[in-house]
Amino acid sequence: MTGRGQARGQARAGDLLELVRSGRATTRGALQQVTGLSRATVGQRLDRLFRAGWLREGAGGPVDSPLGGRPSITLEFDDSHAVVLAADLDTRHARAAVLSLSGEILAEHGGTLVIEDGPDAVLGELGRWFAELLEKAGHRADEACGIGLAVPGPVDNDTGRVVQPPIMPGWDGYDIRGRLARAFSEHTGAGAVPVLVDNDANLMAYGEQRTAYPDCSAFVLVKVSTGIGAGVVVDGSIYRGIDGGAGDLGHIRVPEGAEALCRCGSYGCLAAVASGGAVARRLAETGVPAASGSDVRDLLASGHPGAAALAREAGRLVGDVLATVVTLLNPGVLMIAGDLAGTPFLTGVRELLYQRALPRSTAHLDVVTSRLGDRAGLVGAGALVVEYLYAPERVEERLLALGV
Ligand SMILES: [Zn+2]
Repeated sequence: MTGRGQARGQARAGDLLELVRSGRATTRGALQQVTGLSRATVGQRLDRLFRAGWLREGAGGPVDSPLGGRPSITLEFDDSHAVVLAADLDTRHARAAVLSLSGEILAEHGGTLVIEDGPDAVLGELGRWFAELLEKAGHRADEACGIGLAVPGPVDNDTGRVVQPPIMPGWDGYDIRGRLARAFSEHTGAGAVPVLVDNDANLMAYGEQRTAYPDCSAFVLVKVSTGIGAGVVVDGSIYRGIDGGAGDLGHIRVPEGAEALCRCGSYGCLAAVASGGAVARRLAETGVPAASGSDVRDLLASGHPGAAALAREAGRLVGDVLATVVTLLNPGVLMIAGDLAGTPFLTGVRELLYQRALPRSTAHLDVVTSRLGDRAGLVGAGALVVEYLYAPERVEERLLALGV
C-alpha cells in the first residue's frame, strides 16, 4: 500500500511525503520496502522534497533498517518552511490565528466581528487581522501557504460558498474564497493564496478528532451555541454529504418546539428550543439578563442555577435527537462543544441518549466535552489547508511550480 491507491512501483514524491508524514515509513529503507521503488528512485524523489524544504532528516538519529545493513537516518516533514492562516467566524465574534504546519498556534487574535455586516466588510477585516498576526508571529506574508475559514453555515465544498445560511444574512452564494484571498493580498502585499472554507462544526470535529482521538474512525461533534450543528469525521475525513448539508441538526423538527419560531423562518426547530440563543431567551423571560449563547455560557460558568436547569433541559432535547444520530452512525466519540458545553447540558444529553438509543449503539461510546475549546475550529481549519496542500495528488504540481 503506497499512499492513496498508487500501484506498487509507481509512488510519486507526494506519496513518499504522505508515508513520512503519516509515520507509516520514515526511513529510505522503509520507503523502498513499502513502495517497491528502487533505492535510486526513492533517493531522486526524496531529493526533490529536500530541495523544496519540505523534508528533513530527523533529530532521532539512525534506526535499524528494515532491509538489514547500515542503520537508516529517519526522515520527517519539515514544518518550518511555511505557516498557515486560519479564522473561525461566529455570529458576533471571530478568532484568527497563524499556525505551524503541525497545527501549533503561533499567534492568535479574537475580537468583535459581526457576521450581519456582510461578507465584504467581514472578510476585508480578516485580511487586516492576518497581516497583523503574521507580524506578531514573526513571519513574512509570503511564508503563508493558505487560509482556512470556518463559518457558521452550510458550505458547498466545490465552490467554498455558503448555501442558504440561516444565521449569515447576505452571505448566500458569495465568493468567499476570492474576497478573502484579495483581502489577504491587499493587507500584506503578498500574492494570492488558496482559501478553503468549511462549516464550523465540521472543522471543530476535524481539529478535535485529529488532536485528541486520532484512532477514532467514527467521530461526531455537536456544537451548541447560537445555532446547533454537527460535524462528522469518518476514517479521518470530514463527511459532508452530497451538498455539504450533513450534520445540520439545528433544524430538525421536535415536538417541544411547535410554538417556537426559528431564525430559519420555520417553527418547531431544535435550535429554536435548545440552542444557546433559545436558553438566553428563556432566561430573559424570567428577568435574568441574557441575550446570547455567550451570555448563557458566562452564567453557567458562574454556577447560575436557573441557567444550569435550562441547559440540562436543552441537553435532553438535543440528546433525544442524538439518539438517532448515534443509532445511524455508531460513533466511538460524541463530543459536545460550544457555549452550552458543560456538565448540566451533558447530563441532559446522557439522560435521553442512553434511554433512547439501542445499547449496542452506545456500548463503546464516549460522550465528552471539547478538548480544544474555542480553538478547535482554528486547529481544524489549519489542518484542512495542510492536508489539501500536501495531498499526494497536489504535491507534484506544487513541486513543479517551485522548480524542483
Ligand atoms: Zn430552523
